[in-house]
Parts: sequence; C-alpha cells; structure tokens
Amino acid sequence: MKIIDILNRKNMSLSFEVFPPKKESGFESVKATAEAIAANKPAFMSVTYGAGGGTSRYTLDIVKDIEVTHGVPALAHLTCVSSSRQTVKEKIEEIHERGIENVMALRGDLTPELEKTDPSTWDYRHAVELVREIKESGYDFCIGAACYPEVHPDSANQREDIRFLKEKVDAGVDFLTTQMVFDNNLFFNFLYKIREAGITVPVLPGIMPITNANQVERAIKLSGSFMPQRFKAIVDYFGSDPEAMKQAGIAYATDQIIDLYANGITNVHVYSMNKPDVAAAIMNNLSDILWKDFGVEGN
Ligand code: FAD
Repeated sequence: MKIIDILNRKNMSLSFEVFPPKKESGFESVKATAEAIAANKPAFMSVTYGAGGGTSRYTLDIVKDIEVTHGVPALAHLTCVSSSRQTVKEKIEEIHERGIENVMALRGDLTPELEKTDPSTWDYRHAVELVREIKESGYDFCIGAACYPEVHPDSANQREDIRFLKEKVDAGVDFLTTQMVFDNNLFFNFLYKIREAGITVPVLPGIMPITNANQVERAIKLSGSFMPQRFKAIVDYFGSDPEAMKQAGIAYATDQIIDLYANGITNVHVYSMNKPDVAAAIMNNLSDILWKDFGVEGN
C-alpha cells in the first residue's frame, strides 16, 4: 500500500521508524524488534538506510519482513551522496523487484572522507537528483523526502532551504517528514512558511521520545534541534533515574503528539529508535484518539 493513500485519510495516525543492525550478527535481533513494533499496527513503518550507525545492507529485508509478518506498510530509506549512479539504479531496480512501493529519497550525510573530495566528481550532490532518478525509473513509487523546521545545517538561511525544498518536492515527492522537533511551535511556524512557498504535500512532524539522559546529547548533536526549557528540566530532574526518565520522556512525546493532533495535524512520525516498549507505550497512551476521524482535513 502506498503511504500517500494512508496520509490522505482523515483519521489520526502514527508511524514508527527503525534502523538496521550495525553488524550481520545483529540482524535477527533487529528483525525481532521491528516485528514487535509492527505488532502495534502503526499506520506505516520506515526503515533507515545506514543512519544511526546501522548498515544499509538490511534495509530492504527488514522492510519486507514488516510488510509480510504484520501487514504494516513500510518505507525503504535510500541515500545517494556516497553512491555511484550504477549502485543507486540497481537499488531502485531491487526495490521494485521486491514489491516495495514506498521510498524515502535522501541525500545522506557528508562523511569527512567525502568532504575531502571534489563534489564535481560525485554522481549525486542533493536528494532532488535521487528523486529525479527514481522518477526516471518509470516505476510507480510513493516518494517521501526529508525537511528541516530548524533549517538544514548546510543551508545559509531558511529562505534558501525552503527554495530547494520546493524544487525537491516539485521533482516528484509525495510527502515530507521533518527532522525531530521538541517544540511544536517550530513545526507550525515551518509549516506555515512552506505552505506560503507553495509546498502542498503532507508533512509529518518527526517526534523523538527521549527516554534516557545520554540520548539527549546524541540527539542534539545529530539533529541540532532546539531543546525547550520544559524538556531540559525533565532531563535535569529525572535523568539519573532510568525508569523515571523513560516514563517522563514517553509522557513528553505523547503530550507533543496530542498537541499536534489537537491543532489539525493528523499524521505524526515517531523516531522509535528500535524500542518496542516505547512504541507500545505511546500507542497505548493514544488508544482512544488513534484512527478516529475528528473532521479535520489533515496535514
Ligand atoms: P537535501 O535535500 O539534498 O538537502 C541537503 C542540503 O542541501 C540542504 O541544506 C538543502 O537546502 C541543500 N540543497 C538541496 N538541494 C540543493 C540544490 N539543488 N543546490 C544547492 N543546495 C541544495 N540519513 C541517512 O544516512 N539514512 C537515512 O535513512 C536517513 N533518514 C532520514 C530521515 C529523515 C526524516 C531525516 C530528516 C533525515 C534522514 N537522514 C538519513 C539524514 C539526512 O541524510 C541528512 O540530514 C542529510 O544531511 C540531508 O539529506 P536530505 O535528503 O535532506 O538532503
């Protein structure tokens, strides 16, 4: 099933993300984790491609497993900047052959090694080129892409970032997912600006439940996201007690999601970080809200 068809429904939905194992020996464990998250029946699940320390080899295996074992639609992430055109074309072919309908088209982060080389020698410099490559394959994929409410670190300013985002969407993107946000106002502000810029596709806010204090530093380093004082107080107060921090982190993420729903955002994506218990707790907290149609048009 195409994710865009799910997003166009009017009911409240939640999706989760998993990342592949770092090593081959971790494959069975990540597969079991993905299945446990899928058992909660989210609207869809996304599987990253080499992000979060995972390798890209297993993305498609995990996507297929989620779809087959629990009938949950899945989204295969694909990055391009460190790959040759030949490799990317083969990957697109493989995605199609395996019957996967949803692809997240990403640039990928620039590694220090790559940054030492001349960009004019790269086959891809931006995600927009991958979107065009996928479109040129002629296969009928639903294509997602990334966006940044707090501006991508490579951008000179938000106006420029949104201009390139519009170009990417116009190349054939069906929906967008944001970098993690801890302050919903930043998301609403961004949504307003991109709608003004003529970007009309659904936009899923990305919510990261922070369930242990060590995650905070890593999350900020990876995303550059702003941590509101209200959240910092939670980490300061409960961070040294793992159980208390987990409960508070789940409650904070749930509160953010409820606020988004209550303000007309029907689809929310959760960076569930391979934690089935966290995914289940959030689903449980929203059990009388999810799937209901409150008469809003959606995001
Ligand atoms: P782009 O859309 O190419 O944007 C990157 C920068 O280039 C921006 O500053 C943009 O404004 C600028 N730009 C875009 N087009 C142009 C142009 N034509 N000319 C000049 N400048 C331009 N990484 C992984 O490795 N694997 C994953 O699975 C993964 N999943 C992610 C999922 C989400 C929802 C998000 C938000 C990020 C994910 N990432 C992943 C991280 C992502 O790869 C990095 O943030 C990367 O630095 C940018 O990727 P992008 O696709 O947004 O790039």
